[in-house]
Amino acid sequence: MLNKEQIKMYYEKDYMSLRSIAKIFNTDHHTISRTLKSMNVEIVNQCDRYKLIGNTKICFKCKTKYDNAKEHFKKDPSKRDGLYPSCKECNKKDWKDNYPNIAERHRARTSKYAKNNPEIVNNYRTKYYQDNKEDLKAKSKQWRIDNPEKRKISHSLSKAKRRALLKGVRNTLTAEQIREQYSEQTGECVYCYVDVGNDYHVDHIIPIINGGENTKDNIVIACPRCNLSKGVKTVEEFKIVGIRGI
Ligand SMILES: [Zn+2]
Ligand SMILES: [Zn+2]
Repeated sequence: MLNKEQIKMYYEKDYMSLRSIAKIFNTDHHTISRTLKSMNVEIVNQCDRYKLIGNTKICFKCKTKYDNAKEHFKKDPSKRDGLYPSCKECNKKDWKDNYPNIAERHRARTSKYAKNNPEIVNNYRTKYYQDNKEDLKAKSKQWRIDNPEKRKISHSLSKAKRRALLKGVRNTLTAEQIREQYSEQTGECVYCYVDVGNDYHVDHIIPIINGGENTKDNIVIACPRCNLSKGVKTVEEFKIVGIRGI
């Protein structure tokens, strides 16, 4: 037996569609429509429900009924009633929820385009660089001054990446992982335990030149002195020769 009052409430108060009500009662939407008609409820096209009628409009998302619609909905000339389907509140919420995804989507699209059109993109980049050379140089100089820590990491990283690329070994180390390793060692040199501060080397446990990988589990943070005296020895070899090459 269908609960008529319940159906009416779903339809009029919750603005549910005939089909979604039908699903709840495990029946088809014709039955729901007939039931509502028998109770003298006017059936409206689902799209028409979210249109501006007089000054009233219902938000498509949160189903709030606004009496002064123009204050609560953004203008959208492409819509028949000239207003956005969802209210400003919902838009704001959506924007916050989706923004990282949108940014990711943009980035993915851009890199796909660059992959498929390398010449166009390269030409554009070269031209852009030539046109804005001085500006870009000044900006990057300022960035290096403002971000010594980031600069340090990106410098170490690009050096290691280049070496790993030449050697053809696994090459997955990221700046984030270097930072992780640094905090795991609480900023101390792995060999002599001195506080390295900002002056440290990313040391490969098995050196890349000996086939070591450029990955998180093959790196430690070392002070320049230890790292340089270690050279291309592995940690074990280095320990035998003696810390600081003595
Ligand atoms: Zn809303
Ligand atoms: Zn050291």
